[in-house]
Amino acid sequence: MAMLRADYTARLPAKAQELERLWKQLCSSWDAGALATLHRLTHTLAGTGGAFGAPAISEAASGLERTLTGLTETARPANETQKALITGQLNELRIVAADAADGSDECEAIDATGPCEQSASTTQRVYAFGDDTRFIDSLAQQIGHFGYEVETFTRLNDLERAVNRAVPAVIIVDALPPHKDTGGLQAIQRIQCERESPLPVIFVAEPISMAHRLEAVRAGGVAHLNKPVDIGAVINKLDLLTGKRQYEPFRILIIDDYAPQAKYHALILEQAGMITAIVNDPMQVMRPLVEFSPDIILMDMYMPECDGVELARLIRQQEAYVSVPIVFLSTEQDTDKQLSAMKEGADDFLTKPIQAGHLVSSVTARAERSRILRSFMERDGLTGLFNHTKVKEQLAVELARAKRQNTALAYAMLDIDDFKSINDNYGHAAGDRVIKSLARLLRQRLRTGDIIGRYGGEEFAVILPGTNVQDAFTVLDQLRENFLGLQHSCGDTVFSVSCSCGIATYPEFSDISLLSDAADQALYRAKREGKDRVVLNDR
Ligand code: GH3
Ligand code: MG
Ligand code: MG
Repeated sequence: MAMLRADYTARLPAKAQELERLWKQLCSSWDAGALATLHRLTHTLAGTGGAFGAPAISEAASGLERTLTGLTETARPANETQKALITGQLNELRIVAADAADGSDECEAIDATGPCEQSASTTQRVYAFGDDTRFIDSLAQQIGHFGYEVETFTRLNDLERAVNRAVPAVIIVDALPPHKDTGGLQAIQRIQCERESPLPVIFVAEPISMAHRLEAVRAGGVAHLNKPVDIGAVINKLDLLTGKRQYEPFRILIIDDYAPQAKYHALILEQAGMITAIVNDPMQVMRPLVEFSPDIILMDMYMPECDGVELARLIRQQEAYVSVPIVFLSTEQDTDKQLSAMKEGADDFLTKPIQAGHLVSSVTARAERSRILRSFMERDGLTGLFNHTKVKEQLAVELARAKRQNTALAYAMLDIDDFKSINDNYGHAAGDRVIKSLARLLRQRLRTGDIIGRYGGEEFAVILPGTNVQDAFTVLDQLRENFLGLQHSCGDTVFSVSCSCGIATYPEFSDISLLSDAADQALYRAKREGKDRVVLNDR
C-alpha cells in the first residue's frame, strides 16, 4: 500500500500538467468532448487524493471539479470570469501536486497487519478426554473424518501434560455426573487456572442438572451436548471455535477505470479477508461478472466509454444479476444525481475518499444481505449447498474456463445407498441428519474452489476444477470412506451409511450434457456393481 501511495504521489505533477494542457487547448478551441475529458480526470483526482494520503489534492481538485461541472451543465464556452477562476484553480492544483510529490517519501507508515492474520487458535488440534475408552475412541474417529487432529486421554495427568506440551484448539470432555464425582471438572478447572485465557471446552454428557451445568461453565465449558451425541452438532461447535469457515469469503468485483484506485480499494477489502477482482475497462465486465460471480459490485461512477449508471442498467437487464447489489463509489456529492443513479439500480452510494474501516463495514453489510437473498434462490434449504439449477450453471461456467485455460475438470455425482430404508427404519428426521452430515463432509473435505450441490433427495453433485481423473478418484474415494466411517444415531441405535459415486472428466467428455450423462452412467454402474464404491467413466 505504501508503494501504491508513493507511486501515486510521484505521478501527481504530471497529472496536473496534463490538466493544464487540456485547459489551454479548450481555451483556444472550445469543445464539449475535451471538456468532458478534463472533467473526468479532475473527478478522478478529487476521488483518489484522500485515499492515497494526499487530502490537499482532493480538496484542490474538488474545487476545480465543481467549476467544471457548472460549465458542463450550461453547455456554453467559459466566460472570462470562469476562465480566470479555472486558471487559478489549476495553479493551486499544480502547487499542491508538487508539494505532495516532494513529501511522498515521508509518507506515514502504514500498518499492513490486517485483521485476517491467522491467530494461533486456528490449529485443528482437539483433545478428547473421558474414562469410557470405547466412547472416546469412537468420538475421536468421527471427528477425525472431518479433518481434525484428535488425541484421546483417559487419565487426567496425561491430559494436563499434553496441554502443557501443545495447546489444543478445543478440549472435549466426557464423564460427568450424575454417575461420576466432579473430579474431572475440578481437574479441568485446574488446567484453566494455569492459563492466561481459558481453553474452550465442550462437555459431552448425560442430561444433567442445572447446578452441574453451571460448574461446567465455570470450568470453561462453551458447549454442553447431550448423549447420544449428534456428530453434526459437535462438528458445528468445533468449526465455530476453531474459526474454520463455514462459508467462503465475500467476493467483491471492483469496476474502476483508474487502476491504482481500484487496487487500493481491493487491498483494503482483501486485508479484511474478502476476495476481489478488478475490472478497469467497463466494456470488459461481462466475463468477470459471470466467472467471478461477485456478492457485490463496487463501481466508480464516471468512466470513459460507458459510465457507471449505464453499466448498472446494463447489468440489471440480465436476469441472473438482478439481485447483485451495485454500490457506487464516487465523489459525486449532488444528491439528485445520487438519486438518479439509485433509480437505475444502484443499491448504495459511498462517497470518496472513503475511510478504510467505513469501506469494509459498508461492503460487509451489503455482501451479507446479498448472500442471504441469493441463498434463497441458489441454495438448498436443508444443507445450504447449491441447488440443482445453480450447479448446472456453474458447470457451464467452469467447463468454459477449463476449455479456455486448457485445464482438466472433474464432475462427480454422489448418491446415498439404500436411503429409503434409513427413512423407513429411523424416520425422516434421522434421514435428514444423514443428508446433512454428507453435505458437511463434502464442504469440509473439498477445496474452496470446488463446487458442491445437492441435486435433490439424497443425491449430490461436485465440480472439481483443475482436477484430473486420478486425483478426482482419490479425493472422492477418500470421501466415500470418511462418510462410511460416520456413525449416525437415532435413539439408542447407532448406524452407518454408505454412498456411491460416479465420476466423469473433461477433456474426456467435452460438453455439459456428455459430462453429466457420463457421470450419471458411472453412478448407475456403481450402484449395479454393489454400491459403496466410486466408479470412473473412462468410456
Ligand atoms: P439406492 O441405494 O439405489 O440409491 O436406493 P435409495 O433407497 O437410496 O434410493 P431411492 O431413490 O429409491 O430413494 C430415495 C429416498 O429418499 C426416497 C425419498 O423418500 C427420500 N428422500 C428424498 N428427499 C429426502 C429428504 O430431503 N429427506 C429425507 N429424509 N428423505 C428424502
Ligand atoms: Mg440413494
Ligand atoms: Mg436417489
